[in-house]
Amino acid sequence: MQTPGRVGREGRRAPVAAAAAVILGLLAAAATATLSQAPRVELQTGSTAHPPAPATAALPLPPDTVLRVTFLDVGQGDAVLLQAPEGQTALVDAGPGDIVPMLREMGVERIDLLVATHPHADHVGGMARVIRSMPVRFYMDNGQAHTTATYRRLMTALDERPEITYLEAVSRTISLGSAEIEVLPLLPSATTDHNNRSVALVVRFGDFRVLLSGDSEVRQLTHLVGLGVVPAVTLLKAPHHGSDNGVTPEFLAAARPEVVVISVGRNRYGHPGPAALRAFAGVGATVLRTDLEGHVAILGRRDGGYGVARGEQAASARELGAGRVRTGETTGAAAEDAVIGAVRAVPGSAAAASRGLRLRVHADAPGDDNRNPNGEYAVLENSRGSDLSIAGWTLCDAANHCFRFPRGAVLAAGGQVVVHTGSGQDDGIRYFMGRGRAVWNNNGDTATLIDAAGTTVLVFRY
Ligand SMILES: [Zn+2]
Repeated sequence: MQTPGRVGREGRRAPVAAAAAVILGLLAAAATATLSQAPRVELQTGSTAHPPAPATAALPLPPDTVLRVTFLDVGQGDAVLLQAPEGQTALVDAGPGDIVPMLREMGVERIDLLVATHPHADHVGGMARVIRSMPVRFYMDNGQAHTTATYRRLMTALDERPEITYLEAVSRTISLGSAEIEVLPLLPSATTDHNNRSVALVVRFGDFRVLLSGDSEVRQLTHLVGLGVVPAVTLLKAPHHGSDNGVTPEFLAAARPEVVVISVGRNRYGHPGPAALRAFAGVGATVLRTDLEGHVAILGRRDGGYGVARGEQAASARELGAGRVRTGETTGAAAEDAVIGAVRAVPGSAAAASRGLRLRVHADAPGDDNRNPNGEYAVLENSRGSDLSIAGWTLCDAANHCFRFPRGAVLAAGGQVVVHTGSGQDDGIRYFMGRGRAVWNNNGDTATLIDAAGTTVLVFRY
């Protein structure tokens, strides 16, 4: 049921009667359509306004390779930025305060789709400022009003911007460049509270899938599982800031996330909850928290693989473009063979870019490490049946001392390459970082292998 006073924002430029017809048409379609027949919106035409993130001379990045999902560190609240490979942007919630400086820092100049999952201040507090600060093409919410001043400010900002097209969150699919956003069915408004009517979205970019569902709690999660609309996903935003009431065993069994990001700050609600943390760990998911990491960005590839960037690295699209994804990690994998983006992929497909690769570091050179830098080295092995081009890939330590494999570098099937710290002549098997001092810390370090697209492929910690 539409809240009185909100009707007419969908297609707001149309005459009132026509606008009402549009709304009714959409609602009727939603009531009867399967998801694949649902109303469809294409966010394709804005791409010319989005120059790709500039590649650097150090490591050119094809701009069309990843869907970036950035969980902004907004304290206790949510703000999730989706950036399609072609440059279109969607912002799902806008945190409790002003996030415009963060967006500008990340090079975001316009929002193609702005989504308010539900009208609580920790999700829409920063939204009016976004609307007043940059072009927004579409705005979507659950059609349910709230009584707070924060919510009224949001409505006032929307009223000031009649060029923004309103979309109600009925079942529909929205194209964001080459990614797709599916809006899941909501519970009827009269039956539950705001949290359990959070707009829930499944974002698909090839085999990389993301589930965002605001502050949904047990009731909504049970509803979605019951409808069979919760797919297996790569990335899950922990519902309701990782609250214990934001997860159920059935929901996790359906979603089977590889990565769970908890958007949370200092709070008096006990978020994230210990039972939720145990549940996420119990399905083997890597858990990342904005209160511990700062901004968290997941770079999803069409083949289902992904990389992780955290903190300042995640804050800057330019840094990401430079391939400086430094501190990805996994849990649930043997430490000596940790794999980022080991996907639920069909064996033999291109999806398994990181499968069959092993990385290890010999940090302790014979004699004085600093006098014998070629005595320390990293070994990268390929146990797969096919050669792998590693041209343009980089290998970095935790202090960001990096080696870039040269043009033509190939890791042969069943073979290995060795990267020495010191100087020498590359021969296609042995490579040299050209450094006069030791790089790998004998007491523990992290070796990160990043592919030419800037995605973290492997992380070896010792
Ligand atoms: Zn919240």
